[in-house]
Amino acid sequence: MVATKTSAGTGTGTVCKLLVGGQWVDSSATEYQPVYNPSTGEVIAKTPLGGKDDLDKACKAAYDAFLLWKEVPVVERARVMFKFKHLMETHYEDIAKCVTREHGKTLPEAKASVQRAIEVVEFACGIPSLMMGESMENIARNVDCETIRHPIGVCAGIAPFNFPAMVPLWMYPIAITCGNSFILKPSERVPLTSMMIADLLKEAGLPDGVFNIVHGGKDCVDAILDHPTIKAISFVGSTTIAKYIYTRGTANGKRVQAAGGAKNHIIIMPDADMEQTVQALQASAFGCAGERCMAGSLALPVGDAAEALIPHLVQASGKMSVGPTDGGSHPDMGPLVSAEHLAKVKSLIEKGEAEGAKVALDGRKIDAAKGKGFFLGPTIFDHAKPDMTIVKEEIFGPVLSVVRVGDLEEALAVGRDCPYGNGAVIYTQSGRSAREFKRHFNAGMIGVNVGVPAPMAWFPFTGWNNSFFGDLHIQGSEGIQFYTQQKMTMTRWFEPKAPKNKDGNFQDPIWKAKT
Ligand code: NAD
Repeated sequence: MVATKTSAGTGTGTVCKLLVGGQWVDSSATEYQPVYNPSTGEVIAKTPLGGKDDLDKACKAAYDAFLLWKEVPVVERARVMFKFKHLMETHYEDIAKCVTREHGKTLPEAKASVQRAIEVVEFACGIPSLMMGESMENIARNVDCETIRHPIGVCAGIAPFNFPAMVPLWMYPIAITCGNSFILKPSERVPLTSMMIADLLKEAGLPDGVFNIVHGGKDCVDAILDHPTIKAISFVGSTTIAKYIYTRGTANGKRVQAAGGAKNHIIIMPDADMEQTVQALQASAFGCAGERCMAGSLALPVGDAAEALIPHLVQASGKMSVGPTDGGSHPDMGPLVSAEHLAKVKSLIEKGEAEGAKVALDGRKIDAAKGKGFFLGPTIFDHAKPDMTIVKEEIFGPVLSVVRVGDLEEALAVGRDCPYGNGAVIYTQSGRSAREFKRHFNAGMIGVNVGVPAPMAWFPFTGWNNSFFGDLHIQGSEGIQFYTQQKMTMTRWFEPKAPKNKDGNFQDPIWKAKT
């Protein structure tokens, strides 16, 4: 089994190891964070909360490896990715089960997330052509010009808990194939999937030290932000931390791309296909238990759409099964990641009630006889108002707030006031409504009759406003630009002044006509 090779095997006392220079080694940490199986509440491992000492070792290994790896021809680097893709596919089930075990997603959700991760590897396989520079001859007489993309050095990735396989893979397949080495700090809440996948990279032939893993929380992140060896940082997580990473990382002269939290609006026009819309809203708001930065957490039915939609949505969502995802059962929705996160989501629900929104479906009332797992059912607030906390703040749980609006302009205004800017969706059959929405909504990823408009690997993940800090987004062509620096070369070759021919005239050795 892949998992045992990492020494990442699970059990109450199992402490996760670091991957440094191709070896699984102990952290020098003295404090640990429990990793839970959210379906049962049991502790399955412990993450060491390491810091500068661990990072120093990883940086040294990554830098040494970078000096050799950048000289490996890009086509050979890509070949490692082809093998890695094959291994990811071979171990697809194991990886998805690990995601389910440490995070709580349903197995189909976990599999879909692993599939998205594999697609980034497929994208990275094409880097030999994607990394090409530009050139032009004769930009001045006898002068040619070209740009060549070089890797930038040791890069680091800091990941959130909600997609243990997919989000780290948004980063390192692209970084590595561009010729960089990489240090990943997985979320301390879900480190096991990253460790399992690291073994596949080694099996694919990636040289030791090109990919490394450190573990920890704030101390480890701060060490990454300050370490002089690290040239670029990719971050995905909440907005407060994203802003902090961007500010401190760039102040230290590093490249930073930092994706933050979100509040994603779904606008339903009265002419929408209501059956499709109910299904889409359920999937968007309650898929992955709402722990998704692209979750549609705010519905804005326009005019009569509310009456046509809300009763059906409440009824259908009330029928969703919620339960353990680990161990062969297949509920519609799994648990939240931790007891702490569950308590936070419940406190926001209480705040919504206190501020006057109507609880149309109460997820706190699900059958609690499900052992010690961290469960919450789908929750719907109707008649929420734009100034309520549940409308303004990211909840990151299975909670959908409904703000009824009179027209599309009013819906656009709610979006304009939103500090985030990840996704926004419209359900309509009118091309004109869709076009106005697409042009004017204040967010970076737009869905027209598509509930979760998360881009595929070859498009960038284009969050706006407080959902992204930086210049070059994660994935796609912007990902290639982020992990490379350009070198421009201008070349001139002088025409020879000698030799002269027997008549004493200039003789060009190449162009006879130029005598
Ligand atoms: P988080 O911000 O708490 O943690 C993310 C990372 O930051 C972790 O690795 C953690 O160790 C580190 N961290 C936490 N607190 C820190 C601190 N004080 N100083 C330095 N580092 C710190 O996020 P999370 O709870 O793990 O993930 C959920 C969040 O991620 C949500 O807000 C969600 O919207 C966001 N997210 C965004 C995207 C996107 O593409 N925009 C994708 C996935 C998740």
